[in-house]
Amino acid sequence: MIIQPKVRGFICTTAHPKGCAENVRQQIAYVQQQQPVSNGPKRVLVLGCSTGYGLASRIVSTLAFGADSVGVMFEKEPTERKTASAGFYNNMALEQAAQAAGRKAVTLNGDAFSQEIKDQTIAAIKEHLGQVDLVVYSLAAPRRKDPVTGEIYNSVLKPVGEAVTRKTYNTDSKQVHEVTLEPASEEEIQATVKVMGGEDWQLWMDQLQQAGVLAQGVQTLAYTYIGKEITWPIYGKASIGKAKEDLDRAAGEISQQLSGLGGQARVAVLKALVTQASSAIPVMPLYISLLYKVMKEQGSHEGCIEQIWRLLGEELYAGRAPTLDEQGRVRVDLWELDDKVQSEVEALWHQATTDNVSQLADVAGYQQDFFRLFGFDWPGVDYQADLDPREI
Ligand code: NAD
Repeated sequence: MIIQPKVRGFICTTAHPKGCAENVRQQIAYVQQQQPVSNGPKRVLVLGCSTGYGLASRIVSTLAFGADSVGVMFEKEPTERKTASAGFYNNMALEQAAQAAGRKAVTLNGDAFSQEIKDQTIAAIKEHLGQVDLVVYSLAAPRRKDPVTGEIYNSVLKPVGEAVTRKTYNTDSKQVHEVTLEPASEEEIQATVKVMGGEDWQLWMDQLQQAGVLAQGVQTLAYTYIGKEITWPIYGKASIGKAKEDLDRAAGEISQQLSGLGGQARVAVLKALVTQASSAIPVMPLYISLLYKVMKEQGSHEGCIEQIWRLLGEELYAGRAPTLDEQGRVRVDLWELDDKVQSEVEALWHQATTDNVSQLADVAGYQQDFFRLFGFDWPGVDYQADLDPREI
């Protein structure tokens, strides 16, 4: 079949296998150009390994550090007539590259919140890695089924306290307009914390430790976003921000629990980028388009792979203590939060309208990154080719 993008709101329901493979290939090419790091982790578990920041973490671990890995993802498999989800193809490409480099990359496809997948992951670590030196927690999910009670919690992207009216950019209609978001109820905030907070990270770390699969000196990271005034009402100080604050609590408790192993849990703060998770967040498309424009002009723009390279290659495993903020978090988001960047973004934000947004903001760059998440718009890929969607 000839595979074309089918966009429904903030998601594309098709994915191009060759384009996804090209995405992974380009990320690998980037890490292979970096200075070698000798003391990177050699056995890695990545939860949420197939797209965005988790995929980049597995690429850096496998192809720059030479690590063997187990990954967990939640992706749709292809059929003869339907494409897989992008993460499925990304993961096939990663596994092939790992194999070509003589590295093990074993992946489980299922719900990371479930007990079943935790049990299977522990068994896979025992079988293929023995133990792990690094656990990356990079899940971005809209819901979670509590493994004990069976109750389903849905996360919400809503402000806390009062309603917020903010400009946004609708990528479908290409309009800049205002949206009003009603505040989350206490119950919705708690549900969001249940899904995106630290509870599941702790469950994972508890069970991995009890199973004896955490190595001496193990590190674990969970990813977060903080942002500044423009995005605080819908992210940092909103329902999702409450969930992310809970990661700081969890990091402290996990670190205590790992102290016998000389291990450490840290929250790592990353920049705003187009991923499947962030394109679902109201206001983010306009903010990210403006941010891209300003950071590209100022020469400080980065994608997932550059961010994760700096996090792992230049902070966590650089052979020196990482630079931490006062909460003990590793910060690779500071270029985004720089006053020169934020003041420029804010000035453009006030001026942006439907008529001028394509000049003021990097809407084209945003759209291209969005399509590229699903394997479209990559140079060198033949999009007219008749393909079997089960192969990359
Ligand atoms: P993403 O949507 O690209 O990736 C999510 C990953 O989680 C995928 O591999 C997916 O398969 C997996 N996943 C989702 N639900 C799952 C489940 N139930 N079981 C198993 N796997 C599941 O998201 P992303 O943007 O890379 O986000 C990863 C983390 O980084 C999140 O914690 C997010 O908050 C954080 N972060 C994102 C940004 C950003 O701008 N995108 C910025 C800073 C921090």
